Amino acid sequence: MRIVIKIGTSTLAHSSGHLNIRRVEELCKVISDIKNAGNQVIVVSSGAIGMGTGKLGLQERPKDIPTKQAAAAVGQCELMYIYDKLFGEYNHIVAQLLITSEDVENDVRHTNFSNTLARLMELGTIPIINENDTVATKEIVIGDNDTLAAIVAQSVKADKLVLLSDIDGLYTADPHLDPSATLIPCINKVDDAILSLAGVSNSNLGTGGMVTKLEAAKICLSCGCDMIITNGDNPNNLYAIMDGKSIGTTFTEKKV
Ligand code: GLU
Repeated sequence: MRIVIKIGTSTLAHSSGHLNIRRVEELCKVISDIKNAGNQVIVVSSGAIGMGTGKLGLQERPKDIPTKQAAAAVGQCELMYIYDKLFGEYNHIVAQLLITSEDVENDVRHTNFSNTLARLMELGTIPIINENDTVATKEIVIGDNDTLAAIVAQSVKADKLVLLSDIDGLYTADPHLDPSATLIPCINKVDDAILSLAGVSNSNLGTGGMVTKLEAAKICLSCGCDMIITNGDNPNNLYAIMDGKSIGTTFTEKKV
């Protein structure tokens, strides 16, 4: 199975912006094991700006573009250093790909990107993709890694895209505000009723929220890739997802 796993900033880092060591160690172990079982895994990782914010000792996620891009430049190094170290413990080789929207919108560049990705998978590596935040300006920004991960899943014809988030999935109402809110296990179509359930992002460190996840779901549903939103706080959930068990919210064309 070919699977794309998107790791959000809130999964990787504490709210201080510093690395959640226990979480990331667990995650790299489980992903390594899933790969050892014969699956192809691509990671889309956020966290560059969040970790750069922590490492530079900034009080909050920067709002101006130069500081954001500077934080991303610092945080991306830190991120890849950690992935290289942790996946290396399980004998896996990581590869970094940083892209902007131009790399997917321009046919030649998109082909180059897809070919490189295919070769990296043939070579047995774990490609780790992020937006090239240090150069992404308004004109060429994808903007959030939920969309980026869906574009990647579409490009590589992935079987599944898993979005690891700080929430269990899509609820009938905001579970922080409404105790009667229930998790929706399976969705076949992202229509207006579903879109109306998405609140605004409330994470201090990341970019996406439920809106971007639903946009990602639309891309996945259009190309026959199942997409699952699940909580990143329990990396073992990934095993259940590989076994086709219902965890979080699954967006699929298949009627269950
Ligand atoms: N590319 C951003 C980063 O690495 C994150 C985007 C997102 O959170 O969706 O910090």
